[in-house]
Amino acid sequence: MRIDLRSDTVTRPSKGMLDAMMTAKLGDDVYAEDPTVNALEDRVATLFGKSKALFFPSGTMANQTAIKLHTQPGEQLICDKYAHVYNYEGGGVSFNSGVSCRLVDGHRGMMTAAQVEAAINPPDFYHSPLTSLVTLENTTNKGGGACWDFNEIKNIRKVCDAHHLGFHLDGARLWNALIAKSETALQYGAVFDTISVCFSKGLGAPVGSMLVGDEALMNKALRIRKMLGGGMRQIGSLAAAASYALNHHYDRLKEDHQKAKEIASVLQQLEAVASVEPVETNIVIFKLNPNLDEALFLDNLKAHDILVSDMGSGKLRMVTHLDYTDEMHANLLEIVSK
Ligand SMILES: *Cc1c(COP(=O)(O)O)cnc(C)c1O
Repeated sequence: MRIDLRSDTVTRPSKGMLDAMMTAKLGDDVYAEDPTVNALEDRVATLFGKSKALFFPSGTMANQTAIKLHTQPGEQLICDKYAHVYNYEGGGVSFNSGVSCRLVDGHRGMMTAAQVEAAINPPDFYHSPLTSLVTLENTTNKGGGACWDFNEIKNIRKVCDAHHLGFHLDGARLWNALIAKSETALQYGAVFDTISVCFSKGLGAPVGSMLVGDEALMNKALRIRKMLGGGMRQIGSLAAAASYALNHHYDRLKEDHQKAKEIASVLQQLEAVASVEPVETNIVIFKLNPNLDEALFLDNLKAHDILVSDMGSGKLRMVTHLDYTDEMHANLLEIVSK
């Protein structure tokens, strides 16, 4: 039995989800005539208290659209050095928007308001790029699924207001943070200008993300999505999968979090493991003892049909998800502890 813990993106649509996809009402979404997409967009906009949400084929495209919305070529955005928009979107910020990233040396992918403020270039100093956007990520991916302190987010919002900066949240795993911290989408909608969320991570849909924001911004987002090639036609079946995921796979995220914590506590006891980062959601990042051969460790796991991710700099990652069953969990804990 393969145990795939590389990412929460490896899930397959369940029977119930496939049924929902097969029976979805369809229309041409480029004409805004797909009733299933429209219903999901309305639902997610309402969830965040924003006027509009747009369905995207990927979280990357939703983030890239947001960055384009808030910036002009030559300008600069501020993000943590671990940010997905900087590390894992193929250099899209420079390709699509012609902007650079000012990286902040935060803690587990999270910055303080003081760090953000210090990273802003003085707008009248025309030698440096004009700062126009701050991007946060919650939960942080490379930061090991860490969740932000909401008060710090509010403080960063104040900095953005004082300096007229856009404020975007990469919320690919925001659902996990909401569950872990008992927070609401509404409170996030109230502080950010735009938020991207994914249905294809912990929620287990095969594809799909959304960008939410207010009317004027989202009307522009529609054109940018079109330019990036994200205008899709009869995609109600994809929206149906996302909608099913919200209905059936949201509350259970806490099970993923529980399993991740149990994995972490077993890893912590191993001589082979030097350190395990604190686990708040569904991501476990750990380091092996430096005298251990990492390739050998990974090969050993592979021999047991266990797959994990190598994050570089000696960090390994396991991510729990919908298709990681209780049985797999019991097996994993047993194999790893040996
Ligand atoms: C997965 C992810 C995305 C989007 O990824 P896609 O594969 O393009 O959907 C964005 N941000 C973070 C933090 C992610 O983990």
